[in-house]
Amino acid sequence: MIQNIKKIREDFPILSQTAYGKPLVYFDNAATTQKPSTVLDIMDEYYKNYNGNIHRGVHFMSDKATAGFEKARKTVQKFINASSDREIIFTSGTTGSINLVASSFGEKFVGEGDEIIVSEMEHHSNIVPWQLLCERKKAVLKVIPFNLKGELEYDKIPSLISEKTKLISVTHISNALGTVNDIRQIIGLAHKNNIPVLIDGAQAIQHLKVDVQELDCDFYAFSGHKIYGPTGTGVLYGKESWLEKMPPYQGGGEMIRKVSFKKTTFNDLPFKFEAGTPNYIGAIGMGAAIEYVQNLGIENIAEAENELLNYGTKKLSEFEEIVFYGTAEKKASVISFLFNNLNPYDVGTILDKLGIAVRTGTHCTEPLMEKFNITGTVRASFAFYNTKEEIDKLIEGLVKVKKLFG
Ligand code: PLP
Repeated sequence: MIQNIKKIREDFPILSQTAYGKPLVYFDNAATTQKPSTVLDIMDEYYKNYNGNIHRGVHFMSDKATAGFEKARKTVQKFINASSDREIIFTSGTTGSINLVASSFGEKFVGEGDEIIVSEMEHHSNIVPWQLLCERKKAVLKVIPFNLKGELEYDKIPSLISEKTKLISVTHISNALGTVNDIRQIIGLAHKNNIPVLIDGAQAIQHLKVDVQELDCDFYAFSGHKIYGPTGTGVLYGKESWLEKMPPYQGGGEMIRKVSFKKTTFNDLPFKFEAGTPNYIGAIGMGAAIEYVQNLGIENIAEAENELLNYGTKKLSEFEEIVFYGTAEKKASVISFLFNNLNPYDVGTILDKLGIAVRTGTHCTEPLMEKFNITGTVRASFAFYNTKEEIDKLIEGLVKVKKLFG
C-alpha cells in the first residue's frame, strides 16, 4: 500500500505548480509522467560534474559517465528480469524501439508475401513502422479486431495466423482505452506456430510487473518518459537469440568493431544496436526513475492506481451525459470518455482553464477511433501520485462544463 501520499507528491516538484492560478491537477500521465527529484538531481549532477562521452574515453568523466550508463542498463535488466544485459538496448523511446525491430528484423526475416500481425487498438507507433516495412518488402499487414468493450477478439487470432506470419506485434495496455491485453495467450499461440512476438509496453511498464522471461516475449519496447524518467529515453528488450541474428539498424560510431573500406565488422550486443552517442545521461535518469518505482513497489503502485480507476469510473458514471470508451474487464488507470455530446477539445479546454490537464483527441490511435466512429475522446489517465480529491475536482470541472454548454 502507498502511504503518505503528501510526502510522495513532494518528490515531484512540478505537482505543486499552478496553472492559471489554480493548483495543477495532472491527469495526462498516459502521455507522459512527471519526474521525481531523484531523476532531476542525478541528471543535474552528471551534467555538472561527470559529463564525458561514454565508452571511448580514458579520462575520469568518461569513466564515471560510462559506469553510470552501464549501471542503468543493469537496473533495467533486473527490473524486467532479462537474462542478460546484452538484451537491453537503449533507444529514444518505444517508437525508436519498434522502428529498430521493424527495420532490422524486417530486413532479415520478412520477404514478399510474408505477413505481420498487429491489433486494431495499436498506437500509430505500432502500426506505421510495419506499414512502411510491408510497403518496402511487399508484405501484408493483418489486424486483430477488438470488440466494443475494447477487448481483443482472441478467437479470431488463429485464423489470422498462417505459415507466412513472421511476427505478431501487440500492445500490452491500450493507451486510448486502458485495456490490459492477455498477452500471455497471444505469445503462447504465436510460439506454438514458431512466430516471435513484440510487445509494446509503453503503457504497461509503469503500471504492472513485467517479467520478460516469464512472459517469454521475444521483444518488449517501452519509453523512459512514461515511467517517470526523462524524455528521449527508452528500451528495447530482445531475446539474445534474435538480436544476434538481426543486422545492425543504424551505422555509426560505437556499433562497430573494425571499420575499413574493404570490410567493416560489428560490435557485440547490445552495442551493435547503439550507433552514435546515446542519451547516456538520460539513460542514467531513467535508471534512477526505475529505482524510484522499485522503492515504492510496482504492486503498491498498481494497487493505488486501481483504486483511482475505480473511484474515477464510479464518480464519472454518475453523470448521465457520459459515454465511456473502453470498458474491458481488465483495465489500467485510463478513462476515455465523451461528455454531453461535446467535442472533446471543448471539454479539455474548459478543464484546462480550471487547472486540470486531460488529453483530448485521437491519442494517436486513429483506426481505433474509426472503429467507434468517433473523432476522439477526453482521456484522464492517473498515476500513483494522483488523489481522489483531484478526481473530485475533475467532477466539479465537468459540472461547470455542463452548465456552460447547457
Ligand atoms: N505505444 C503506446 C501504446 C503509447 O501509448 C505510446 C505513446 O503514447 C507509444 C507507443 C509511443 O511512445 P513514444 O512516443 O514515447 O515513443
